[in-house]
Amino acid sequence: LRVEVSVAGGRREHEACVVLVFHDITDLRRLETVRKDFVANVSHELRTPLTSIKGYVEALLDGGKDDPETMAKFLDIILRQSNRLNLILDDLLQLSQIESGVALFKRDLVSPGNVVERSLAIIQPLADKKGHRMHLEVAEGLPGVIGDEDRLVQVLTNLLDNAVKYTPDGGTITVRLQALEPTPGAEVGSIELSVADTGIGIPEGDRPRVFERFYRVDKARSRELGGTGLGLAIVKHIVEQHDGQVWVEGNQPAGSRFVVRLPAARPGQLTAPQTNLAN
Ligand code: ADP
Repeated sequence: LRVEVSVAGGRREHEACVVLVFHDITDLRRLETVRKDFVANVSHELRTPLTSIKGYVEALLDGGKDDPETMAKFLDIILRQSNRLNLILDDLLQLSQIESGVALFKRDLVSPGNVVERSLAIIQPLADKKGHRMHLEVAEGLPGVIGDEDRLVQVLTNLLDNAVKYTPDGGTITVRLQALEPTPGAEVGSIELSVADTGIGIPEGDRPRVFERFYRVDKARSRELGGTGLGLAIVKHIVEQHDGQVWVEGNQPAGSRFVVRLPAARPGQLTAPQTNLAN
């Protein structure tokens, strides 16, 4: 708490009054801590691949370059670490643009079926590589949502990418798309999109935190799998920009289930363009 005291002149010359102003700076302090933590996290995330690049370049200069096999191996690592730096910077830039409101979101009538179709086309090759079965449950005649299709594709792609990553080979990933009736008092219903996997799951205590920037249940595993720790933070921001909600629950008997709920377009706001997904 910060207290400001100022003495002001009163109505008559010999009168003075004291004004006490109370500022609750708990929130400011918290924001400042969040900002400091963020800068520390970013520095750490960037330093890890940089240190590795520097180490391998030094090893090459130190004689490693004289052996073609060693050189090829080290250059490959340097390239992969540089790609990783790029990935982190891309994600960071994107997150900061969304957060600061610089990123403009379209407000089109989007077919949720199209979002599923486009995301699956991106993820299918990765899922095939790990021998995962993709299971699709799409209701028919779904209403549309108002928003930015490319960003919604990114939401689903990030969730699917995680499901593929955090599920041991030969798992099952289920994408479900359904409409929910309006809750009492609400004007419009919603569209619920979920991604369930049979993977390693997320301990209950970690679930609310996985949407924070750089929060990972297992840092080493995430890095090994090429994660930046920013995917779910981006998901959360995009969903919130669409007035929606996202959360994660446990899947039975194992794995995680991420749920995205978005407000359905109002009746009369046209019906969503149809896709052939439901066929
Ligand atoms: P990352 O790049 O590390 O995957 P994300 O922001 O996408 O970052 O996810 C944050 C963390 O949440 C991950 O590091 C992982 O611990 C956990 N996580 C996300 N999705 C899943 C999933 N489908 N199954 C298990 N853990 C998950």
